[in-house]
Amino acid sequence: MRLFLTLLFRNRLAALGAVLLLALVLLCLVVPLLPLADPNVTDTPNKFLRPFSEGHLLGTDHLGRDLLSRLLWGTRLSLAVGVAAAAAAAFFGTLIGICAGYFGGWIDNGLMRLIDMIMAFPYILLALAIVAALGPGMLNALIAVAAVNVPFFARNIRGISVGLTAREFIDAARLSGQGHARIIVTELLPNVLPVIIVAISTTIGWMVLETAGLSFLGLGSQPPQADLGSMLGEARAALIAAPHTLIVPGAMIFVIVMSINLLGDGLRDALDPRLRSGALARPSPVTRIARPAPPPAETPARGVLDLDGLTTRFEVGAQVYKAVSDVSLTLGKGECLGLIGESGSGKSVTALSVTGLVASPPGVIAGGAARLDGVDLLSLPYRDLRGLRGRRIAYIFQDPLSTLHPLYRIGDQMVEAIRVHRKMPLAEARARCLDLLRTVQIPNAESRLSAYPHELSGGMRQRVGIAMALVNDPEVIIADEPTTALDVTVQAQVLALLDRLRRERGLSILFITHDFGVVGQLCDRVAVMYAGQIVEEGPTASILAAPAHPYTRRLIACVPELGGGRRQLAAIPGLPPAVNRLPAGCAFAPRCDRARPDCQRDPIALRVSGPRAARCLYPEEALS
Ligand code: ADP
Ligand code: MG
Repeated sequence: MRLFLTLLFRNRLAALGAVLLLALVLLCLVVPLLPLADPNVTDTPNKFLRPFSEGHLLGTDHLGRDLLSRLLWGTRLSLAVGVAAAAAAAFFGTLIGICAGYFGGWIDNGLMRLIDMIMAFPYILLALAIVAALGPGMLNALIAVAAVNVPFFARNIRGISVGLTAREFIDAARLSGQGHARIIVTELLPNVLPVIIVAISTTIGWMVLETAGLSFLGLGSQPPQADLGSMLGEARAALIAAPHTLIVPGAMIFVIVMSINLLGDGLRDALDPRLRSGALARPSPVTRIARPAPPPAETPARGVLDLDGLTTRFEVGAQVYKAVSDVSLTLGKGECLGLIGESGSGKSVTALSVTGLVASPPGVIAGGAARLDGVDLLSLPYRDLRGLRGRRIAYIFQDPLSTLHPLYRIGDQMVEAIRVHRKMPLAEARARCLDLLRTVQIPNAESRLSAYPHELSGGMRQRVGIAMALVNDPEVIIADEPTTALDVTVQAQVLALLDRLRRERGLSILFITHDFGVVGQLCDRVAVMYAGQIVEEGPTASILAAPAHPYTRRLIACVPELGGGRRQLAAIPGLPPAVNRLPAGCAFAPRCDRARPDCQRDPIALRVSGPRAARCLYPEEALS
């Protein structure tokens, strides 16, 4: 709740709207207690008094009635009717929408055709017809305005309910034996509530206007009762002679509708959890780069991809999460480098930092460089960097279902990936995609080109992801846990495929995983990451045979061995440290059985020895 209010009030306009609206509502509540003139008492000799006249702060209208009093009583009525109409429309609209979405079938069909019928008329005409049928009056105006707004809510809520009803948590509720009513109230309703609140807050203003419109036409409040619309209607005749009678209610309508809309917009932003984490800002196309001393733009290359002291942080409020600290790695041509570590150790952030893909805010690249053939990617202008993404450096992401666009066919997505970077006739691009789908061993590749992502199995989608990464013949592929979602047979196939592609095409692969078994199969070298730092690095065989860092040893011990006897699998006790409160010395020390007091004192340097390096004072194996 506190977070919600802070977010809401960070938006200045929403705060202004909230304050104005609150003031108005309070004012309306105390109107009966104020020493106001009777709003309906006429005094024709004193008609059309100007504002600030004796006894009439805002002047009088054409019958000499006190405008201030009529304005306040009218505002009270208009607001109450607007809110009541919005509540009624929301209630019935939600009821219809949820029932239609949840039950589906003929109930859905019947209800929605009813809604379609209402929507077939221009709504103001329909409201007029309803009032004409029921007879003029404020209550009937309320009913008319509510009725014409029901479809808006019903359609919105139905769309969301249909999607939610197909989800597993509803199945789980059914499985537990709950009845329909209970599922709707306890499972479905809480999920659509934010939408309802937002829809109400953005439509109240509009309902106040519609009610005022009906009253203006003489169909809402009846004389002598004042509401904002009827005040406007009565003042119309004296537009030139006494403009204040018109301006006063007009200005009030403006203030009400403006403040409600500003607040509604703010509410929508603050209630949307996706906007919330990004602190209400749109992520920029490149991660924010704030390097105190920008490194030279070009240096002699060690490998195809060199990371030099790459440091990426997340700045969330007052907290700084040091997700990646001073990471240096070299990926040679045709090499496969494994990057391994527990979940949350910073592997993905490292990979995304290379081409500035970390979401910003909150991400910031605070130091270091990522060099492709010696050229610092983070110093490049955005256009150049964009031209490079997907063409020279391609990514394979962990979850292919969320990275493939659900509404485009596989073929179209792949063709787009090519044509973003170069002009190629459509037929040629499709042929190329087909070729690649065959390369990644997708059976029936032709028909798969016109399939949607949800029509493929997880393993096939992963292969499509790999094929897409290959469409532009990249030099480097960054594979972020590409096999974590797959079963072991498919995993073995995907690994074999990557290995073959590497040998045939001379690809360099940065392979991110948390599984030493996979590293052992595929990678020439491996870098072990813990709490955002590289703690050990070296040739895979050498590290597997004799790990130096205790963390590496524990990670290797976590891999089960088939037929290896009933060896106890050694889980690593404890949890990785939170990266916003890293300890002073070795981050692994609290979980380490070899730790001594001095491990926790100062930062530990990476000690290099030949091809291997380790960040440990008391390594398992002394590096010569
Ligand atoms: P993994 O090694 O599992 O890929 P990540 O690189 O995704 O881990 O995350 C590294 C660290 O960065 C984690 O501790 C995570 O909490 C933090 N982190 C990632 N994204 C954000 C974010 N948007 N805001 C704050 N912290 C984040
Ligand atoms: Mg990850």
